[in-house]
Amino acid sequence: MPELPEVETIVRQLRPQIEGKTISALRLFWPRSVEGVPKEFRHRVRGMAVAAVARRGKYIGVEGADGTFFTVHLRMTGKLVMELGAADRRHLRLQFTFTDGTKLYFVDARKFGRLHLWPCRGESCPGLGPEPLRAETVRRVLKHLKTKRPVKSALLDQTILAGIGNIYADEALFLAGTHPLTPAASLSDGQQRRLASVIPQVLRQAIRRRGTTLRNYRTVADESGENREHLNVYGRAGEPCPACGTAIDKIRINGRSSHYCPDCQKMRSVTSDK
Ligand SMILES: [Zn+2]
Repeated sequence: MPELPEVETIVRQLRPQIEGKTISALRLFWPRSVEGVPKEFRHRVRGMAVAAVARRGKYIGVEGADGTFFTVHLRMTGKLVMELGAADRRHLRLQFTFTDGTKLYFVDARKFGRLHLWPCRGESCPGLGPEPLRAETVRRVLKHLKTKRPVKSALLDQTILAGIGNIYADEALFLAGTHPLTPAASLSDGQQRRLASVIPQVLRQAIRRRGTTLRNYRTVADESGENREHLNVYGRAGEPCPACGTAIDKIRINGRSSHYCPDCQKMRSVTSDK
């Protein structure tokens, strides 16, 4: 599933392509891609002059000059492209046509992606936590975590921080030297500080490489991201840790696979701290 860096890449590429354009027509091939009443979505979005494209967490937000606002959540296999490849035709769910004749296609093989019309931008995506791109913000959030849930689960919780998914949670925990099962509320001061500094770092580096493509993620230009080869632990179970050579381990935490180095990310309990 695309996480913050992938969605940010899409937003940055979409901006010059659709900002300032007016949507003249909309074809909905799979109505369930739209949350709520598809007819209302079509009615509100047709004629919309695109004023801004923005990201919030893993959501792409499109705002009209009249305040009309909708989000796109790509989930598993959704992608937004300006050119429709031959293989994409059977998975085309929605097509926007602009007054200049260009088109934006929403392609989604698994059909989990959703478009959602909101009353206005300010009322969209309720319950999302803050953006994790600044160390001070992340530090403040980690400091106030009261949950005994594993830190890995807390990082994936979009109400705590918005935009982090499985890949970047594993990568950040590795760089911070924190075991993914460490209870979130018992992170030491030093662990909080390290995590707060590496989370924005990992995300920003991935943005510079236009995200991580494992299987499905594609940019608006229908290209793969370049961050995959730079991953330290994610998807590398059994391979040597780049820091110490120990085999990367994979465990399941609340149903999600977690990759970590058993040597670099030791669980620090009160009794073992001497
Ligand atoms: Zn290691």
